[in-house]
Amino acid sequence: MADFDVDLFVIGAGSGGVRAARIAAGYGAKAVVAEEFRVGGTCVIRGCVPKKLMVYASRFADDFADAAGFGWIVAKPSFDWSKLVAAKEQEISRLSAIYRANLSKAGVTILDSRAEVLDPHTVRIVADGRTMRARFILVATGGAPVLEPDVPGREHAITSNEVFDLAELPERMVIVGGGYIAVEFASIFARLGTHVTLAVRSDNVLRGFDEDMRVGVRDALRHAGVDFKFGMLPIRIEKKAKGFDVCLTKGELIDADQVMIATGRRPHTFGLGLEKAGVALDRVGAVKVDEFSKTNVNSIYAVGDVTNRVALTPVAIREGHAFADTVFGGKPTAVSHANIPTAVFTTPELGTVGLTEAEARESYDCVDIYEACFRPLKATLSGRQDKTMMKIVVDGLTDRVLGVHVLGDDAGEMAQLLGIAVNLGAKKADFDATMAVHPTSAEELVTMR
Ligand code: NDP
Repeated sequence: MADFDVDLFVIGAGSGGVRAARIAAGYGAKAVVAEEFRVGGTCVIRGCVPKKLMVYASRFADDFADAAGFGWIVAKPSFDWSKLVAAKEQEISRLSAIYRANLSKAGVTILDSRAEVLDPHTVRIVADGRTMRARFILVATGGAPVLEPDVPGREHAITSNEVFDLAELPERMVIVGGGYIAVEFASIFARLGTHVTLAVRSDNVLRGFDEDMRVGVRDALRHAGVDFKFGMLPIRIEKKAKGFDVCLTKGELIDADQVMIATGRRPHTFGLGLEKAGVALDRVGAVKVDEFSKTNVNSIYAVGDVTNRVALTPVAIREGHAFADTVFGGKPTAVSHANIPTAVFTTPELGTVGLTEAEARESYDCVDIYEACFRPLKATLSGRQDKTMMKIVVDGLTDRVLGVHVLGDDAGEMAQLLGIAVNLGAKKADFDATMAVHPTSAEELVTMR
């Protein structure tokens, strides 16, 4: 320790960095975490948490409409965007303060500053120009939205960084992209009353997800009023006195109050000084790491989105924890990135774990598919036309469940538990042998034959 000021210097107080610092401190390490923005990172401040709050807000639109079928007489509801933004801000401030308090309680020092790497053991604290020597440096700087495609006027577009704090609810909005963020916000804004146009470069949303579920999400969004422009992208965004003209590939002009670009995120390594320390990056700027999150420099590790492995909060947390166990806890721990359950919070939501049907057919000789498509019980009285879709992908030779995909209410909650079953190597026969919980939608998962 004599040569070092601290055992661990973490750059970035997001999900991965905070977990790593707290666990390392628990092992007795002297740990410091530097954050240039707000403690909590993308997930808490401008990602998963405020997004889910807005998903809840948007679903009241459906609940008010559905109530009549159950005998309720509801006066015409109205919605106040600024109240939602203020309430959301209060909640994320509360969470950020809890993160800070938990770090302090664990004995971790928080530096409210950007930090840059000078060499394998030295970090510069930009706010005051001080340098600090650390036995280990952990890069946990996350990612940032990309503003692509590179078209004239793209500087007028917002990204998921700005969307949570818009001064007004847009009446008309163009969203560019077809991934998680684009479809989730299309679903949110369409329900809040915005006319949403979704411009997607390919012929469907959510590439990489199961084909039938992709179709289901597309149809549900269309049903919610989202206007799709497939095979189209903006070629120009022009600012007008009020709003913007968005010119799409095929010459169509769309009038919008806001244009949101959601075409992916890039690892946040620019200007961090990693090259000075000799840390290898890949072609998109992600920090290259081994299964223990170690870079090619022995004293520098990286976890979370900055490594571009699987850009999800729980993965960053697990990687941060495993790093601390490995380096400070004497328990070398590699993180498995297989069978990660995940959810897309559209309405209805998509919950999934394991292989898609197409992926299974590529790798296995015999694949059995079990499917269900039904109207959920609640929809019978509400009159809603929603369908719940479920698909179980099974290795026909061993009976092992390779993947499960659910599009419907609470699919994210189901995916969490399905993840346990799939990770335990459950067979279809184990699903069949499990008693149903009745009446639920999830019971279909154990009654499909
Ligand atoms: P995604 O990678 O999920 O999707 C990017 C979308 O943009 C795709 O539709 C892609 O099309 C399209 N695209 C990419 N490049 C271009 C381009 N140059 N021009 C036009 N279209 C382009 O990114 P997101 O921004 O939606 O989300 C980033 C990450 O954040 C996700 O991967 C996920 O890990 C995480 N996230 C997770 C959430 C959750 O767990 N619920 C919620 C939100 C984000 P194509 O398919 O053709 O490549």
